[in-house]
Amino acid sequence: MEKADDFMNHESDIVLEDFRAEVAQFLDAAPTPEILEAGRKTTSAFGPYEPVMVWHRILHSRGWAAPEWPVEHGGTGWSVEQRYIFAEEYQKRGLPPLLPNGLRMVGPLLMELGTPEQQERYLPGILAGEDYWTQGYSEPGSGSDLASLSCSAVADGDDYILNGSKIWTTFAQHANRMFMLIRTSREGRKQQGITFLLLDRMDYPGMEVRPIVGLDGAEEQCEVFFPDVRVPQSGRVGAENEGWEVSKQLLKYERGGSAHSPVMRRRIKAIREAAAQTPSPFGGTLAADPVFQRELGELEGDIASQEHFEKLVNSGHSIALDPAYPSLNKVISSELTQRISALMARLVGLDGIPDQREALIVGSNVEALDDDFSLIAMPYYLNSRATSIYAGTNEVQRDLIARTLRP
Ligand SMILES: Cc1cc2nc3c(=O)[nH]c(=O)nc-3n(C[C@H](O)[C@H](O)[C@H](O)COP(=O)(O)OP(=O)(O)OC[C@H]3O[C@@H](n4cnc5c(N)ncnc54)[C@H](O)[C@@H]3O)c2cc1C
Repeated sequence: MEKADDFMNHESDIVLEDFRAEVAQFLDAAPTPEILEAGRKTTSAFGPYEPVMVWHRILHSRGWAAPEWPVEHGGTGWSVEQRYIFAEEYQKRGLPPLLPNGLRMVGPLLMELGTPEQQERYLPGILAGEDYWTQGYSEPGSGSDLASLSCSAVADGDDYILNGSKIWTTFAQHANRMFMLIRTSREGRKQQGITFLLLDRMDYPGMEVRPIVGLDGAEEQCEVFFPDVRVPQSGRVGAENEGWEVSKQLLKYERGGSAHSPVMRRRIKAIREAAAQTPSPFGGTLAADPVFQRELGELEGDIASQEHFEKLVNSGHSIALDPAYPSLNKVISSELTQRISALMARLVGLDGIPDQREALIVGSNVEALDDDFSLIAMPYYLNSRATSIYAGTNEVQRDLIARTLRP
């Protein structure tokens, strides 16, 4: 990782402009119409699965799937400024985000805590977009109080026999792999009997995945059932009963590992354009309405702060090591996302009411009633209600921040 002041030592403008042109040329030419459509129809952090995975593989073929990864594992070796230029050019074209579970969660975790065999076995598939990993942490009775989880594993020869279920497992219906927490002991404190396990298949005999329909009508989350399911113990990361610390390390990547400001900037641009077309009840357009302008201005100011924060972190600033950082990043970015989506929903007003789920499907021949902004505003708003819940609720994160910062 670069040192903080690398970000300040600007590379030659000419070199960076050449780099920008190279990125722009590729990003103009490489996405298929379906990938561009997926970008326009993205209403959550998890874009439409199939086209996003196709896009992941195209980026990988150019060596650009994982700019943040170390070069020895297939990263690009780009400077902070190059990574930022790439993100800017990416968002300018409205391209769909790659799915985070492999690239930003279990991938970095394996680099840090996986065995050399696990790294060799799993990292190439994550990088290439051949594998999709789902996260099996939460259970019907265990969300914020995750350590109370009860999905059990009993050792039997080289295997574990799993019993119990997981819930809210995002895109489990598409996944071919899962990282999960299991209870291997009921002795001592509840945190002490948890093990972190990788499943290299989602079709072990008996395993069942049932999708859940969300508030926005999408099937993003699932329940996963394990009735006497036999899986190999070789997928354990760390020692048996010592998975709690491993799980917390992954949560740091989940909460702190993504840069959100480029996509926020893209949404603000779309809001500005829509506001210039939307009549204000007081005459003129909303873009000229002082109340609207103030709200948008405040939002943009807060996004600029988040952007600065993300740049510091990306440049290796020590703030990224602060134990409060992942929770701070999660709370701020999720609340900004909710404010942006609420503004979008208000802009479309009654036009957001019709159920246009079919028009949202990539490749659908059902026409949207209006433009893409009106099509996605309400589903995006509804989906964004969950940003303050997933990856640990914001109430609990605030508690963690307070406890971390207490002198
Ligand atoms: C869209 C979505 C995607 C998700 N994806 C995944 C996934 O892929 N894999 C996975 O394992 N999980 C996933 N989750 C689950 C998510 O991590 C949990 O929903 C979350 O941790 C909250 O747990 P819970 O739903 O059981 O709520 P609860 O823990 O029951 O919380 C209910 C309410 O009580 C509050 N509360 C609870 N405890 C405290 C406390 N100590 N102090 C203050 N307030 C408290 C909470 O803030 C919340 O408002 C997802 C959830 C959603 C909504």
